[in-house]
Amino acid sequence: MHTPVGFTPLHVTPSALSETTLAFAFAGAKLLIRGDETSPVVPSLGDVVREMPAGVRHYLGQLQGADCFAIGLPDEAVAPPAFHFTGLRALFLKLPEATLALAARAFQVVEWDRTNRFCGRCGTLTRDKPGERAKQCPACGYVAYPRISPAMMVLVTRDREVLLARANRFPNAMYSALAGFVEPGETIEDCIHREVREEVGIDVTDLQYFASQSWAFPHSLMIAYTARYARGELRPDPTEIADVRWFGVDALPALPTTVSISRRLIDSTVARLRAQSPAGPVAPSC
Ligand SMILES: [Zn+2]
Repeated sequence: MHTPVGFTPLHVTPSALSETTLAFAFAGAKLLIRGDETSPVVPSLGDVVREMPAGVRHYLGQLQGADCFAIGLPDEAVAPPAFHFTGLRALFLKLPEATLALAARAFQVVEWDRTNRFCGRCGTLTRDKPGERAKQCPACGYVAYPRISPAMMVLVTRDREVLLARANRFPNAMYSALAGFVEPGETIEDCIHREVREEVGIDVTDLQYFASQSWAFPHSLMIAYTARYARGELRPDPTEIADVRWFGVDALPALPTTVSISRRLIDSTVARLRAQSPAGPVAPSC
């Protein structure tokens, strides 16, 4: 997920709202939609305010001229007739990409708002800080910004093979690139070397940046790289990794869905490896 084309992020609600306003209203992690999951529509601000007046509003900015709001509803809110609450993952490929990206952005703002109602340092009720997306404690001055957790993803290659792992948390037979959260004091590159060593026991070299993706579950920024195998034997950490293997580019296992950065990383790298050394006829053995 990323900032959609045509979106201008803003913090201050304009004095006059656009004719079309979009309201990304969440109860817990579920988004309020009009209709059902097969043909979802993001409701207007008017719809939400009329049906569910108890929400906390946050102005997000304008998408192609339409004002956009994130709204935090009470966790126990019940959808009115003709509306439904649904998880964001169920809306992949059913909402336009720009709308989905804004829904993910809205979720992170709502989640930040409801987890920072009190100062993390002294426990006083916080207030919105004018002019920026921040909450400030009136007693001690502590400022809380929306939390974003950087994480790395790396696809390790060895000749015409890629290293893919099945994490314990993955469903069924899916394999993906290695990933892990950055720790205090680390660069992304430090994190890649440490995580690869911890999770599968090998050393890598030649790190190359690929792309990054915002991921709203709940607030990570995934930063993806490729790397080449340097040395070591595969020794998977059983607390995290159910299985790890080198897969030839022509014999890949079940992979993540195409909306994920992991799939884009794998597809792009596999295409590059295939182009670099096309599979030729097998050399005769004497
Ligand atoms: Zn405080």
